[in-house]
Amino acid sequence: MYLEAGWNLVRGLILGDNSGSMIWKMIDLHTHSILSDGVLVPAELVQQARNRGYKVLGITDHCDASNLEMVISCLKGFVRSLPKNSGIAVLFGVELTHLYPEQIGLMVKRARRLGAELVVIHGETLVEPVPKGTNQAGILAGADIIAHPGLIEPELVNLAVKKGVYLELTSRRGHCLSNGWVGGLGKRYGARLIVNTDSHSAEDLLSWEDARKVVMGAGLSEDEAMWVYKNSEALVKRVLARRGR
Ligand SMILES: [Zn+2]
Ligand SMILES: [Zn+2]
Repeated sequence: MYLEAGWNLVRGLILGDNSGSMIWKMIDLHTHSILSDGVLVPAELVQQARNRGYKVLGITDHCDASNLEMVISCLKGFVRSLPKNSGIAVLFGVELTHLYPEQIGLMVKRARRLGAELVVIHGETLVEPVPKGTNQAGILAGADIIAHPGLIEPELVNLAVKKGVYLELTSRRGHCLSNGWVGGLGKRYGARLIVNTDSHSAEDLLSWEDARKVVMGAGLSEDEAMWVYKNSEALVKRVLARRGR
């Protein structure tokens, strides 16, 4: 029932079978609830996102070895409790945060085994000191998204392409300082760029129109912004395909 509802809802939303405008509703695959350092319970985060016209919301709370099981189990229970006609597709996962690079491979596997639908790595942002090697370890582990990867090396952008890992442009202040770098290299190497808000509260959520400006602010054209949007759709489809197995 949960599976079927998820499939039908998102299939409808993604294919935009109601009206053309459906196609451009926000897809945001990196946000936080009160299960880590966000301020909203997941239910309110979902409602606030829905009110802003989101079609897909990924809730990806900060995790390390201390809370991985608890967060995934809480979010799984929450998503399964949503009604069939919720009007928004909600995916759940984790943002593995401040781990040592050598822990990342195992933690990505554990998160997947516990059912996380999205595995985000808190990348090497310019404004928070995470260990050097975090981006690389996340890519090698086959995480879904390297969030705010900072001044990621060209070879790693290339590796992310090969491994099917998405690289994030972000509207989050501080983390967004390297958007221009990530956008430039992403274009050069054909990386799977996506844009997320890393929201911790309702005010952080963005419409696609505003998210598109963040993408263009990173040096991408209007057409390239559409490609970024399609990348987010492709990742949602990947997650739903896993859900279907
Ligand atoms: Zn946070
Ligand atoms: Zn985050």
